[in-house]
Amino acid sequence: MNQTKQLEELEREILDNKVCPGLARSATQLVMGDGNPDGDIVFIGEAPGAQEDQQGLPFVGRAGQFLNDMLQLINLSRSDVYITNIVKYRPPNNRDPSDQEKAEFLPYLFKQIAIIKPKVIVTLGRHSMEAFLPGFKISEVHGQPKRKSGLVYLPLYHPAAALYNGGMRDTLIEDFKKIPKIIKKL
Ligand code: URA
Repeated sequence: MNQTKQLEELEREILDNKVCPGLARSATQLVMGDGNPDGDIVFIGEAPGAQEDQQGLPFVGRAGQFLNDMLQLINLSRSDVYITNIVKYRPPNNRDPSDQEKAEFLPYLFKQIAIIKPKVIVTLGRHSMEAFLPGFKISEVHGQPKRKSGLVYLPLYHPAAALYNGGMRDTLIEDFKKIPKIIKKL
């Protein structure tokens, strides 16, 4: 079975298992992921926002535009990489996802990664980093690739947090530019 089909089955499993029923009720739809399901790089954000909830695609709002711009900077596009979130329903009023919500979605995120089999996982923001690199502080480890269980993890600041913070924005762009070197070294 090809990866697109496997991801569709995983989506069906999330719906059938009624993951996070509270969020499912308030959200418009499940936002599974976008991009190349056979890609070497997976970007993982926090949870869908308003635009993502409406369109059913991750990172299509302002943070998404910034992510697209940074991808372009390193000669990649969304169709080269896979993009998803830990929590796949929009939390009401864009509040942070709760520990319970993140924990409920985590087994499905791991299954999603097992289908795609990336070489590099880029975590966007603290919530995403903590799912893979617990115990680290994003302010201390952003931009530092970490090798773990045969994969390279690159923790980055969240594009939405960096969007209107000049210093963090410059840092995120500099960290992002390390991605081609990491890929080359694999
Ligand atoms: N922020 C996220 O973490 N994910 C999205 O899909 C959009 C904004």
